[in-house]
Parts: sequence; structure tokens; C-alpha cells
Amino acid sequence: MTRRSRKALIIGAGIAGPIAAILLRKAGFEAQVFEAWPYSTGIGGGLQIAPNGMHVLAAAGLADKMIRRGSVAEAFEFYSQSGNRLGCINENMEQRFGQPAVNMRRATLNETIVNQAWCENVELFFDKRLVRIEDRADQGVVAHFADGSSAEGDLLIGADGVHSAVRTHVVPDGPKPFDIGLIGLGGFVPRSLIEYSGTGQCVRTTFGRSGFFGFGFCNSDPQDGVMWWSTQPAPAGVDAATFPGMTRDALKRHLLGFHAGWHDPIPQILEAAEDIGVTATLDVARLPRWSRGRTVLIGDAAHATSPHAGQGASLALEDAYRLTCALCAEHEIGTAFQNFERERRPRAERIVALARRNGNQKREFSRAGAWARDRMLKLMIPLTARRRMDWMYAYNPCTVTPRPETSAQRYRQAA
Ligand SMILES: Cc1cc2nc3c(=O)[nH]c(=O)nc-3n(C[C@H](O)[C@H](O)[C@H](O)COP(=O)(O)OP(=O)(O)OC[C@H]3O[C@@H](n4cnc5c(N)ncnc54)[C@H](O)[C@@H]3O)c2cc1C
Repeated sequence: MTRRSRKALIIGAGIAGPIAAILLRKAGFEAQVFEAWPYSTGIGGGLQIAPNGMHVLAAAGLADKMIRRGSVAEAFEFYSQSGNRLGCINENMEQRFGQPAVNMRRATLNETIVNQAWCENVELFFDKRLVRIEDRADQGVVAHFADGSSAEGDLLIGADGVHSAVRTHVVPDGPKPFDIGLIGLGGFVPRSLIEYSGTGQCVRTTFGRSGFFGFGFCNSDPQDGVMWWSTQPAPAGVDAATFPGMTRDALKRHLLGFHAGWHDPIPQILEAAEDIGVTATLDVARLPRWSRGRTVLIGDAAHATSPHAGQGASLALEDAYRLTCALCAEHEIGTAFQNFERERRPRAERIVALARRNGNQKREFSRAGAWARDRMLKLMIPLTARRRMDWMYAYNPCTVTPRPETSAQRYRQAA
């Protein structure tokens, strides 16, 4: 007797959703992905996938493609507002961790993952906003969408990000996302702007008295090959929602004013900025559980992390891989979800806490406070940076047992 393949309904076609679908397909599951928005390309800013996340892209057959379409980051340098070099971290990542850290456009990553999902015969549905989940104990789980349609599967994976609708099913009166009062602005500028500055393949970041600025190569496009971002405390009474109403020129004036006097090439980057994106920095308090019945949360839906550890996307990729392992190793879905949560929670929560601490370095400092912080960073980075950071990158989710290939074989043989 052969058992039919189990079918996963996956909500969200950001990062975790389509990667989970690819990995589950490879492990013998059926997978359908439902995304709230119509299919689109070119949206979003730049981001970095760390070695721990790159291992998962490699398992999905995408690491080499993203290295070609992005830009390997050879180190992460810190500067003071006046251009004093404070230290450098994350050197030689590929030699030390088996994969490099890679900068890329979010849009390129998303388009590449979605294309790969199509190649793996994942069914992807766009313009399908999940509104309700019905979990019928002895039958399947049903996802209901805003257009009145529905889909039925054996399990449902909520990969629907920080504003997750699936989270409200798993934890009905659970925590909601809250704004931590830091605004992110960012975009892309031509490579020629930083090619002269000796930045090389490093990501350069600057701590100001108030706020933070970063930039680095993210692809080989001469026009758009540099990603930049500015993190700033929201002025009293202002939040990220205030900014989209501003014209490009007003946004640029605001940025040039905020970063006035910061070292080169920051003013030149801001002068050249065209399309400027604005995002609120959101956080979600710890959830009491990540699953309920046949439904589980992964990525930002389970443990949204502010961007200040540069790990949210890599954690989401890790989750996709480790959930696939858990489902291959254990046939009973609820037990598999609990095993997944037990394994993942400590690591995810440690990284969320680190991101919160890092975010606090980007708030407003007095002149003396900024001076002391810069001295402290200069002293501490060479002494403690590796201990504070390397544990995140050294984790390879694809070498932790159980692994999906072996577990899937075991499950098929037993069937
Ligand atoms: C400014 C900024 C910079 C960042 N930089 C980095 C970085 O450098 N490195 C890093 O690792 N991380 C970074 N992050 C964090 C990273 O972007 C997130 O952690 C990551 O995108 C989480 O992936 P996900 O798949 O869980 O969710 P998402 O990527 O948010 O995807 C969720 C998807 O679900 C869809 N969806 C939502 N609701 C529904 C619904 N009801 N029905 C159907 N679909 C739905 C959404 O439209 C979306 O496509 C950054 C975040 C921000 C805001």
C-alpha cells in the first residue's frame, strides 16, 4: 500500500513560504502557496543573507544564482559620524562558515525563489489573501480567502510575515506588532558613487549621535548596484506613515538635513537617491506557542525580529528547512510542529533579543554619550565581536539531524 503525498497549504510568498514549498516538494509533499498581493517584481530595498541563510538557499539550489545576482560582502565596517574607523566584523565568512554573506535586492531574491518554486512544480496563487482558517479535527485544514475561494490540505504553514493573519488563528488574543520608534529609509544608487571611496566589497556603516547609515554593493548593475539605508529615531509625533505622503524632494531634504556633516560619501549617496523607500521598524512580543492543531507559524510570523541583527530573512530560511526536517521525521503533524518549535525557539529568541539591543545603539545620544559609545565600540569590537556574532553564522541548519532526504526516505519506506 502506498500512502498519498501529504499536502501543505503555505500562506505568504515572501521568503520563508516559497522556500518551504520547494523543500517540501523535494521531500515528497504537495505544496500550494497563497500570496495576498498580485504577482509583482522590483519591490523593496536591499538586504543581506548571512552564511546560515545561504546554506538553505544552497539546499534549494539557489546559492550560486544569488551570489551571481547579488554581491558577496567581505566584511562589515563601523565608522563614527566624522569618519573615524571604529572596527570591522564578519571577515572571511566563506572560509570560516562555508558560505559567504551576500547582499542583494529583496526583489531579486523573491523573484529567484518564486521562479525556482515554479520549476519544482509548486502551485503558486497570487491575489489570495487569507482571512480565516478552519481546522477540522479528523479531516483536513481549510484556508479561506478574501475573494470567497478556499483550499484544503493536510497542514497549513503561516509564512505571512510580521502582520500575520495566521498568527491570529494560532494565538487568538496574542500580541500584535508594535512600532519600536525607529524609521528606516533606503534605496539604491549608482556604483560609481562608492567605487572611488575604497569601500571595496565591505558593507560600511556609521553610528551618528542620532541614527545610523549603511551602504554596500548589492549587484553589478552600474545604475543601481549600491544599496543604502538610514535608520533614525522617529521625531515626537511622527511615524513611518507620515513619510509616504512626502515628495521625493522633501524626503531627500529631510535625509540631507538629518545626516548633515556626516562623512563622505554619505552626502553624495543622499544627493543621488531617487526612489526612497520608508519602513517602520516593527517588533512582536514572544508568542506563547507557534502552532495550533494542523497550523504552524514560521519566519516573521512566529518571531518577527527588527532588522538590527541582519538575521530575519536568514532565520526565516532556517525555519523553512528545519520545519521540512521535522515533518519528514515525524508523521503525526502536531508532534512534528512541537518538535520544530522546541528546536527553533531558543535560537530565534536569542537573535530577536540581540536585534533589540543593537537597535538601541541607533537612538539619540548626547554628544558625550555618542563619544563614549564610539570609544567603547572601538575597544570592544576586536575583543568581543566574534564571540557576540559568530554563533549566529556558524549554525548550518542543513547539517543538523534529522535531515529531510534521509527522513523522507525512512517515511516512504515505512509507508
Ligand atoms: C528595512 C528592513 C531591512 C531588513 N534587512 C534585513 C537583512 O539585511 N537581512 C535579513 O536577514 N533580514 C532583514 N530584514 C528582515 C527580513 O526582511 C524579514 O525577517 C523576512 O522578510 C521575513 O521573511 P518571511 O518570509 O517570514 O516574511 P515576509 O518576507 O514578510 O513575507 C510574508 C509574505 O506574506 C504575505 N502575506 C501577508 N499576509 C497575508 C495573508 N493574509 N494572506 C496571504 N499572504 C499574506 C506578504 O504579502 C508577504 O509576501 C529586514 C527587514 C526590514 C523591514
